Amino acid sequence: MTSTKQNDSDHVHVVHADASPVLVVGSVALDSVETPFGKADEVLGGSGTYFSSSASHFAPVQLVGVVGNDYPVHQLEPLRARGVDLSGLETADGSSFRWRGRYRHDLNSAETLETHLGVFSHFAPKIPEQFRRSPFVFLANIDPRLQLQVLDQVESPRLVACDTMNFWIESRRPELVELLGRVDLITLNDGEARQLTEQANLVHAARWILDRGPKHVIIKKGEHGAFMFTNESVFFAPAYPLESVFDPTGAGDSFAGGFIGYLASTNDLSDRAMRRAVVVGSAMGSFAVEKFSNERLLEITRSDIESRVQEFRQLVAFDAELPA
Ligand code: AMP
Repeated sequence: MTSTKQNDSDHVHVVHADASPVLVVGSVALDSVETPFGKADEVLGGSGTYFSSSASHFAPVQLVGVVGNDYPVHQLEPLRARGVDLSGLETADGSSFRWRGRYRHDLNSAETLETHLGVFSHFAPKIPEQFRRSPFVFLANIDPRLQLQVLDQVESPRLVACDTMNFWIESRRPELVELLGRVDLITLNDGEARQLTEQANLVHAARWILDRGPKHVIIKKGEHGAFMFTNESVFFAPAYPLESVFDPTGAGDSFAGGFIGYLASTNDLSDRAMRRAVVVGSAMGSFAVEKFSNERLLEITRSDIESRVQEFRQLVAFDAELPA
């Protein structure tokens, strides 16, 4: 599973050789989703599942989470086949985490119809000994108290990133603000950034977050692309203009999987690599929304990813010279 890295500036190649492992702790869910194009009932979902499906294209992934004894774990086999280590996935007595959501014509924002925590309400993540030294850690969207518990168990990671959502901003704000002081990077969408910071302007919102700890803030704007803010710079990548978006669920987690997976595959945390990672993340998010659940993420190949990344390049290529 290796591909060569080229330094040719005309080509952006994703690589897998010498990739570092990525630890992800997140939800493993059964999702029921309605979009203007169809319905899916109790399909594989969850922030951890989408992240792993995406990141496994670039790096070995270690997934920690919990499912109930009603979960169709055999459906996770394709993930195992892609090299995702599921030994940190616990099965607990009770029902699995379930999320029911609907998208109307604005596919950028999900309306949550039901969140059933099930076994998640008693979950205390236990990071297996063999995962504790993973250099890359992604705290996918789960209760910030659990995200903090994970940080107490890992040993000097190179990069810790986290995600969150409105549900936790409303119910666990103090823990979330504490978490900001302990992560290097956060990804969140524009609505969540405004809600968390109480700033209407996204540049102000990013500044508010940067002031509390993270060195990078990625604000996703659905079909309008994603911004990466640091104290020194702002980078923007558009979203891939897809002709048909089937189901937006998981786009954010797939973005994060592509972003972190790419960084783990290169072991490079320079600004140049971070910018590339935003584009790779955007490419992975665009695949995720082409089908329900993680279906599309599991069928794409390295060459599909490379061509889409090249298409992003074309999308923003222009001649900056103005006539004299
Ligand atoms: P995304 O569309 O990338 O923001 O994430 C969608 C996934 O998040 C779905 O597969 C849901 O199962 C999962 N999800 C929804 N609500 C929560 C929550 N409160 N905690 C953890 N995961 C959630």
